[in-house]
Amino acid sequence: MEAEPEHQLNVIFLPYPAPGHMIPMVDTARLFAKHGVSVTIITTPANAFTFQKAIDTDFNSGYHITTRLLPFPAAELGLPQGLENAKDATTLEIIGKMRLGILMIKDQIELLFQELQPDCLVTDMLLPWTVESADKLGIPRLYYYSSSYFSICATRTILKYKPHQKLVSDTHRFTIPDFPHNIEMTPLQLPNWLRTESSVTEFFEAVFESESRSYGSLFNNFHELEGDYEQLYKSTVGKSWSVGPVSTWVNKDDERKTNRGHSEDLAREPEWLNWLNSKQNESVLYVSFGSLTRFSHSQLVELAHGLEQSGHSFIWVIRKNEETEKGDSFVQEFEEKMKESKKGYIIWNWAPQLLILDHPATGGFLTHCGWNSILESVSAGLPMITWPIYSEQFFNEKLIAEVLKIGVPVGAKENKWVGVEDCADVGREEIAKAVVHLMGKEESIEMRSRTRKLSDAAKKSIEEGGSSYSNLMQLLDELKSLKITRALHRQSK
Ligand code: UDP
Repeated sequence: MEAEPEHQLNVIFLPYPAPGHMIPMVDTARLFAKHGVSVTIITTPANAFTFQKAIDTDFNSGYHITTRLLPFPAAELGLPQGLENAKDATTLEIIGKMRLGILMIKDQIELLFQELQPDCLVTDMLLPWTVESADKLGIPRLYYYSSSYFSICATRTILKYKPHQKLVSDTHRFTIPDFPHNIEMTPLQLPNWLRTESSVTEFFEAVFESESRSYGSLFNNFHELEGDYEQLYKSTVGKSWSVGPVSTWVNKDDERKTNRGHSEDLAREPEWLNWLNSKQNESVLYVSFGSLTRFSHSQLVELAHGLEQSGHSFIWVIRKNEETEKGDSFVQEFEEKMKESKKGYIIWNWAPQLLILDHPATGGFLTHCGWNSILESVSAGLPMITWPIYSEQFFNEKLIAEVLKIGVPVGAKENKWVGVEDCADVGREEIAKAVVHLMGKEESIEMRSRTRKLSDAAKKSIEEGGSSYSNLMQLLDELKSLKITRALHRQSK
């Protein structure tokens, strides 16, 4: 039922332009709209292009959801027109410029906030200044964190106690302090800014300070997945609401799943689907490293050999780097060979991940441990091979492999932005071994059954009465009460 306009909540969502941040926030915004909230998503034109169709469909179905666009200052930054998302950046320097670009349009964003007079701001973790914007408007800011409770709790406790600084070497182990499980890591597995102090450390300190000052935090998560860490977060940081998995909740039909996060329409019966349809149930490994990672030539070669040696079928998404863009003859020959043997299928740059994960032929996921990929794998009931690359992904690996026991680590040792140097961090033997372990039926029986149970719990959590469903309802009620209190306060003045 539609809410009365005067009681209707008016919420602004401000995503960060990287798929791992933007996709779940847009899904969350759509979820709010489907529950009677009037939603505005503020973004730039090229970013809006990747999700506008879904917004228009929701709008045409009667939901109050719209986008407001601000031009991105690409020319001032010396970036090509239309380069507005981290997934299109080929270097760290370009990512830095993009971050600057958002700061350059901060005043225009704040003017829009004033014009729209929202009741709440939901903004990405990487936009810490928005806590001040909300203060100025006298409204709550919800901090949107697009990863696990485990990872944020680990980051905060390591930042506080610095256990890694007491070791004599970067390859020795320390235990994460004040954690419900005994988790050991090496300093090399930490993000650079956490291992050694730098200006980036200062930036993240500001991010966490803004998190503590926010009204609360929103997580694309569900209680049954990591309840211990949700509890730890609430007791050490503050209020939070787990309202996921949002992609399962809002993308219920296949068309939405196909085009999500991507601007071009995909064919109805594409070649990859025919290829998957020809495979036995649970026989194919899906291999993807998310939206940002681009492997060097040497790492591509090791991965190709590892997959081939494993003897299992696979669908592998390769993001092009400068070399593959020009034509990497090894990878091209490998692709041809796999086409002939029908053992492997390569998708270049962007795959319809949700559709592939949900296909009955898919039996496992070799993932870089990006949080969205993990949640999507869990929702589809698929165990994982964990190959963390950078950022908080090594924490997510620990959660998957050691706490939830639904994944096999490939053996990645160092947290770093890949593709910068031409080297291979993980060798073909380790890769083949992990694939055989996961895809060999005997070895993975228990992991598979644990993942299926979590998949069932994920689905229940978003049904009426489920944990995420109830959290969303409770949050919306709380925001409505705050709106009423503000209105009464204004009247009494
Ligand atoms: N994604 C996709 N197709 C691709 C690569 C990524 O649909 O080829 C989606 C994926 O389903 C997920 C998001 O992009 O929702 C990536 O987020 P994640 O947290 O897994 O990793 P990140 O890209 O942030 O490293």
